[in-house]
Amino acid sequence: MSLVLDNVSYSYPGSTQGLHEVSLDVRTGELVAVIGPSGSGKSTLLKLVSGLETGHAGRIALDGEDLSHTPVHRRHIGMVFQSYALFPHLDVLDNVAYGLKLRKVPAEARRRRARELLELVGLGEFAARAVARLSGGQQQRVALARALAIDPRALLLDEPLSALDASVRGHLRDQIRAIQQRFNATTLLVTHDQEEALTMADRVAVLKDGRLLQIAAPREIYERP
Ligand code: ADP
Ligand code: ADP
Repeated sequence: MSLVLDNVSYSYPGSTQGLHEVSLDVRTGELVAVIGPSGSGKSTLLKLVSGLETGHAGRIALDGEDLSHTPVHRRHIGMVFQSYALFPHLDVLDNVAYGLKLRKVPAEARRRRARELLELVGLGEFAARAVARLSGGQQQRVALARALAIDPRALLLDEPLSALDASVRGHLRDQIRAIQQRFNATTLLVTHDQEEALTMADRVAVLKDGRLLQIAAPREIYERP
């Protein structure tokens, strides 16, 4: 249940087809990896769910609520991008607290919540640091803490590990998966990395030319002759 796409299509202005009749159910707490070649519609899928692109045909629903007319900040969706997309002028704590501030959570409560999440991702000591003075892996853990701080109804991870060194990637993969399970977060993970899909995903959705070709357990997807 939880995140449901029913026959979703989307064309970019000038008629580039982004998605074509995609239907997909992500259950509560499930992590679905979205794979497919460049241009297959992975980013488009995430942008439609997040509300960064609007005007799709078909239905996108979160916990039964049709999102067609729900603006980005009311969707209550946590996002993590390949490029971290942290606010460079804010320190680590204020980055994590940002979404809570937007939602008018009082200052003391949001600092407390942000601290909790920083502890959870192992960055408790870095609260007052400028984000530019963190490593890539640390910045991505801040981004994850920020995404989770709002108690999201769904989590969208857009190639969260692909900018990182291989040495950091393995550890962070396990950490993100453990935290995602602990939060029982309904999650879409866009990735190009087979190892990532195999170790993190409950199911893998394969896109090609804007269509959903297949959705199945990771082993079924990758262990074909
Ligand atoms: P990646 O495969 O690394 O995700 P994309 O091919 O999705 O990269 O492109 C990255 C950005 O460029 C996205 O924000 C996407 O919306 C935009 N983009 C991709 N294709 C086009 C296009 N034909 N015209 C305009 N913008 C595009
Ligand atoms: P992926 O993330 O899998 O690389 P995208 O969702 O970015 O794929 O792209 C799907 C299709 O939509 C591609 O044909 C791409 O060129 C096109 N597209 C993506 N973003 C834009 C955009 N902003 N404007 C026009 N076409 C786009």
